[in-house]
Amino acid sequence: MPFFDFHTHSHFSDGEHSPQHLAKIALEAGIKQLALTDHDCVDGLPELKSNALGLEVINGVEISSTWQNTEIHILGLLIDPGHKAISELLENQQHLRRERIERIHQKLCKLGISGLLEYLENLNCKALTRTHVSNFLVSEGHSKNNQKAFKVFLGKKGKVYSPANWCDLTESVNAIAASGGIAVIAHPSRYSISSRALNALVKDFRNAGGEGLEISYPNIDQATRKNLKTLAIKNNLYCSGGSDFHSCSRTWAQIGKFPTLQDNGEIKTIFEHPSWKARQNLHS
Ligand code: AMP
Ligand code: MN
Ligand code: MN
Ligand code: MN
Repeated sequence: MPFFDFHTHSHFSDGEHSPQHLAKIALEAGIKQLALTDHDCVDGLPELKSNALGLEVINGVEISSTWQNTEIHILGLLIDPGHKAISELLENQQHLRRERIERIHQKLCKLGISGLLEYLENLNCKALTRTHVSNFLVSEGHSKNNQKAFKVFLGKKGKVYSPANWCDLTESVNAIAASGGIAVIAHPSRYSISSRALNALVKDFRNAGGEGLEISYPNIDQATRKNLKTLAIKNNLYCSGGSDFHSCSRTWAQIGKFPTLQDNGEIKTIFEHPSWKARQNLHS
């Protein structure tokens, strides 16, 4: 099992737990370096840092971005969360999220389902996501579970589907780079695009200044991992990995539970990035 996890969520976006609790379970799992990468927000980072209990905390974020009409998630690792470039972009993303919630609320009202906005007001979160809406639908008895809520209501073919006009991929990559971070394409095999399109995406990402590819995460088969490794090597990208942890109850995505990067010199790992090396010197 890896000693790091560079993709996790807290209740500041759609994770269930506090950053403090994440630190606790990460330590129990034997993790030494942990990145908190909440959707479009960095508000959980101070709490994680002040409760790190010896963990090395990596400032992170996961930015919902648009590339050729497809939603792509870009991780920003080692960002300065207070930098104007990233804070302005995230402020706008959160605004887009609030607007989308408003549209979902209107559609739900037409179906006779009210109370979403009141439910959301009482949550301790910064970035409003469809997971929060799905939790609401389950708690009100409109869906049996979150998967069904996505299928019936929130997914692309759902009754209240409301797309969001996320920032362009180049904007997220630029903001991450401007704030000192490393941009990494999250879970590349989870997008519904052809391998040809994935190649084009990686090329555009690289040209925009993107530097990393997530090549290891839960439920990824050997063939896919091999393909992603090849893609990273071909495009000279640094390789990262993470669980995409959201909750202890999602047993298939627990902190630190994903294949190791299998660093036998073939790939460039994220640890070899100059910014990572500079950071390690700071800590040694
Ligand atoms: P959003 O970024 O607001 O569109 O919310 C997307 C989040 O919903 C993702 O980050 C996942 O955590 C979650 N999600 C997406 N699809 C599903 C699904 N089919 N079932 C359960 N959760 C999902
Ligand atoms: Mn999520
Ligand atoms: Mn994602
Ligand atoms: Mn994620």
